[in-house]
Amino acid sequence: MSVIIEKIFNNTQLVSEPKAIKSVSEITKILQDSGVSPSIQRIKILQFISTNEVHSSVEKIYHELVTEIPTLSKTTVYNTLSLFIEKGIVNSLSIDNNEILYEKSQKPHAHFLCEVCKSIFDLDLNDNLLAIKEIYGNKVKKVDIHIKGVCNKCLNNK
Ligand SMILES: [Zn+2]
Ligand SMILES: [Zn+2]
Repeated sequence: MSVIIEKIFNNTQLVSEPKAIKSVSEITKILQDSGVSPSIQRIKILQFISTNEVHSSVEKIYHELVTEIPTLSKTTVYNTLSLFIEKGIVNSLSIDNNEILYEKSQKPHAHFLCEVCKSIFDLDLNDNLLAIKEIYGNKVKKVDIHIKGVCNKCLNNK
């Protein structure tokens, strides 16, 4: 890993692994701690975002959950996600003006998009970069880093 890369990222690992499934009681607690009343739809949506998919679209969440919750609508998914963002439980991101993706809030990080398989990987950013409050007299509010390329899995399939 080059010195420059080491200054930006904490490690070279691209992370897109599914996380351990959180139980309904764990999810309920996260919602309650954030002042959100835990309806079954809200629990299922947050459970899906927290576990199965690291970065999911409204479309994907809806299609995955509608079989389990037939009364679910895309509007409900969208409104629930907006509420989660407002409460700081979920982050939204948009790479390349594609559809908006949602992920469970965590430490700020960069994203790597594979242009071949469309996978999105998380990259752990160095805290020094995130601590930047000002650039040449301009106030920094948020650092978003999106990197596009071909992931090593796709490179090796060639
Ligand atoms: Zn790929
Ligand atoms: Zn991410």
